[in-house]
Amino acid sequence: MRDYRIAAIPGDGIGTEVIAAGLQALDVCAARDGGFRVAVDLFDWGSAYYKRHGRMMPENGRDQIRRHDAIFFGAVGAPDVPDHVTLWGLRLAICQPFDQYANVRPTRILPGITSPLRAVSGPELDWVIVRENSEGEYAGVGGRVHQGFPYETATDVAMFTRVGVTRIMRYAFRLAQSRPRKLLTVVTKSNAQRHAMVMWDEIAAEVAAEFPDVTWDKMLVDAMTMRMVTKPATIDTIVATNLHADILSDLAAALAGSLGIAPTGNINPEREFPSMFEPIHGSAFDITGKGIANPIATFWSGSMMLEHLGETAAAARLMRAVERVTADPRLHTPDLGGSATTAMVTDAVCEALVGDN
Ligand code: ATP
Ligand code: MG
Repeated sequence: MRDYRIAAIPGDGIGTEVIAAGLQALDVCAARDGGFRVAVDLFDWGSAYYKRHGRMMPENGRDQIRRHDAIFFGAVGAPDVPDHVTLWGLRLAICQPFDQYANVRPTRILPGITSPLRAVSGPELDWVIVRENSEGEYAGVGGRVHQGFPYETATDVAMFTRVGVTRIMRYAFRLAQSRPRKLLTVVTKSNAQRHAMVMWDEIAAEVAAEFPDVTWDKMLVDAMTMRMVTKPATIDTIVATNLHADILSDLAAALAGSLGIAPTGNINPEREFPSMFEPIHGSAFDITGKGIANPIATFWSGSMMLEHLGETAAAARLMRAVERVTADPRLHTPDLGGSATTAMVTDAVCEALVGDN
C-alpha cells in the first residue's frame, strides 16, 4: 500500500467549499484504486485566522507542512483584509520559500462545456501554460518616494536571473517533449523590453538545442493573445514570465468556459519541497455559502496532484469522471449556465469514479 500525506489549506470563501468537495473525491478515488491511501491534515489558515492572530499562518507554518507529499490549496482573499496581506501572507509565503518556480496550467475545453471560441469556430484547444513563478515582474523589487507630490515616483523592477530563466525554460521544454505534439511557444516582449526579454530569447535558443525533438517558436505576448483566440489549434505548450503568463492564463480560463474549471499546480520540480495544487479562481465571496461553487477546477487540481504523486492511473480515472459529469448539462453549476449545486456535481463525480472501469 502506498501512503501519502496531504496538507489541505482550504483558505477563504468558496475555498473551503471546493476543498471539502475535492477531498471527498480524492477519498473515493483512493478507495476505488485500492493501491494507495491518502491521509489529510487540515490547516485553518487564511483571513479568519488573520483576524484572530494578526497573521495568515503561524510563524512555524511552513515547518508544519514541509514534510507533506503535497499541498491542496483552496483560495485566499476576503473583502475586509487587504489583497497584498492575504496573497503575500499565505499563498506566496508558501510558493516562494518552497521554490515552486513552475506554475503549470492545463487548459482544455471539457466535454459538454461551451467555449466562447467553440461558439464561433469550433476549434480544438489543449494547452498547458507554464508560468515562471519565482521572479520576474513579481519579484517585489522597487519602491515609492515623494508620495502625494507631483514628482512622486514609483518603480517595480522586473528581475530575471539566468538560473531562473534557464530552469523554467528546461521545465517547459521537458513538458512539451512529454506531450504528443512536442510543440512549445516561448512568449516574451523582446521588442519593447530590450534587456531581460532578449535574455529570455537567448536562453530559449540555448535550451532548445538540448531538445532537438521539440518544435518551438517565439511570440510577442500581444500577438499571442490574438493567436490564442484566432488560431488556438496551433498552440500546445506555452512558457512565459510571471506577469505575461498570469494574464494569458486568465484568457485561457475564459476560453475554456469558466474560471470555475481552471486548475493549476505550483511545482517544485526538484522535489526538495512539497508542490501545491489549487483551483485558479479566488475566494469568490459573491457566491460563498450558497453551495453553488463549481468544484471542477479543484477536482482537476486533485488529478494533477495524483499525477505528481505518481498515481497516474488514479489521476486519469478522476479526469474521466470529471469529463463524464461535465458532459451532462444538468450537472453544470451556474457559472456554466446551469443550476446544479456543488454537492450534486461532487456526488456525480464520486459516482462516476465508483462506476469507472
Ligand atoms: P481573487 O482576488 O482571489 O483572485 P476575485 O474576486 O478576483 O478573487 P474570483 O474569486 O476568482 O475573483 O472570482 C471571480 C468571479 O468568478 C466571481 O465573481 C465568482 O462568482 C466567479 N467564480 C470564481 N470561481 C468560481 C467557481 N469555482 N464557481 C463558480 N463561480 C466562480
Ligand atoms: Mg482574481
